Amino acid sequence: MENLANYEFWFITGSQDLYGEETLKQVAKNSKEIVDRLNKSKTLPCELVWKPTLLTPEAIHQTLEQANADDKCAGIICWMHTFSPAKMWIAGLSAYKKPLLQLNTQFNEEIPYATMDMDFMNLNQSAHGDREFGFITSRMDLPRKVIVGHWSHERTQKRIADWMRIARAVADGKTLRCLRFGDNMREVAVTDGDKVEAMIKFGWSVPYYGIGDLVAYMNEVKDGDVNALFDEYNQKYEIVYGSDKDFTTKQIKEQAKIEIALRRFLKDNNGKALCTNFQDLWGMKQLPGLAIQRLLADGYGFGAEGDWKTSCLVRTFKVMTDGLVVPGSKGNAFMEDYTYNLVPGEELNMGSHMLEVDPEIAVTKPKVEVHALGIGGKEDPARLVFNTIEGRGLVSAVVDMGNRFRCVVNEINVVPPKAPLPKLPVARMVWQPLPSLETSAEAWILAGGGHHTAFSNIITQEMMQDWAEMVGIECVVIDDGTKIPAFRNELRWNKAYWDSKR
Ligand code: MN
Repeated sequence: MENLANYEFWFITGSQDLYGEETLKQVAKNSKEIVDRLNKSKTLPCELVWKPTLLTPEAIHQTLEQANADDKCAGIICWMHTFSPAKMWIAGLSAYKKPLLQLNTQFNEEIPYATMDMDFMNLNQSAHGDREFGFITSRMDLPRKVIVGHWSHERTQKRIADWMRIARAVADGKTLRCLRFGDNMREVAVTDGDKVEAMIKFGWSVPYYGIGDLVAYMNEVKDGDVNALFDEYNQKYEIVYGSDKDFTTKQIKEQAKIEIALRRFLKDNNGKALCTNFQDLWGMKQLPGLAIQRLLADGYGFGAEGDWKTSCLVRTFKVMTDGLVVPGSKGNAFMEDYTYNLVPGEELNMGSHMLEVDPEIAVTKPKVEVHALGIGGKEDPARLVFNTIEGRGLVSAVVDMGNRFRCVVNEINVVPPKAPLPKLPVARMVWQPLPSLETSAEAWILAGGGHHTAFSNIITQEMMQDWAEMVGIECVVIDDGTKIPAFRNELRWNKAYWDSKR
């Protein structure tokens, strides 16, 4: 994605001037080497920038204010190579506004039993210094992440990389614009919410546009452009013409026209996400289906029925996993809980949507099909139909609890449909929710999680918890350890905590 490569993270080493020049030289040399080796590992999604060792309250304050002011800086990683008295950090940390990772590592992996003297102990005391830093961040109740492990270990590097991806998505979210064509679906509660609070918390801007604004763009689309895009569909997908080839072609070309108009509209209005509402299509012949699926595949966020929260979350997932999506193997999608299989021992949840499932998660070559929608009173729309990737993943929703947002996460195991679904004219996904359909659905419903979700088989629950920590909202996870009585209590305790934060 275009601007994500520009982000960087600062590596900040803490110490003090008590140790003398020789030791501080070694501290700088060691931290430079760590930064250099982390950058060369190719594990990190962004460049890590080394900063001179911080020794005084003034230098700390100045550096953290510079991190705030620098648009490229998406977060800082702090490491106390030696002891660094934490009162020195209070002014700087009070001013600091971006994601903070405390890396509790040390330069040496192993205790050098044969040679270790007091000088070595004074130089290599992260176990000591990082506890002092941990105390002050805890006392100040700062949003933060702690990762413990040797910096050369694959696991440590992977966790740093995941944290960076989340911090980068949080930075990107500050400028995210989700264009809403029409308002929220009439009378629906869970898809609605406080747009002002969303901008304060996440940075998400969700401006409204009349559907007529889009229709005006559609009227400007030239036939030549529509035909060229139709040819592209023909190459990429299998078009199912059915009994009336002319009709099918006409319906698909209408989606091509919508796609071209939407791309231009999004570009002109700086939108990276959008939502539509089938109740608000005045002047349009079809609900956008194929057009939306094509935009999803290109990294745009989408939510149906005016669901701007899920649209922004889908876009956020795409930013979080930029560079990690492998078509047919790993990906993200806008998803909706639809129907259950409740046969004992075979409990499953089937997700889909009327039209707009993301081809990022297709395992079969998508077919373009035209069918009646049976809702909205418009012409038969074209859509992509396919089966989806299998294996472990998660679904997540952000809901508005009235005075705050809650993020709900459920780990799932996607399985192949037991039998073909010849009469279901939409893309679909079947999964076993953890720990079981019964407990998962009970917990999800108790948490108020909606029917629209963002799916990913790349993002982990740890990444979702990091995201919630960075944006400052509640996150509840339903996984193989979930038990309903404890989960109910967690919701109640969380309510007390989050209500007290306001
Ligand atoms: Mn829906």
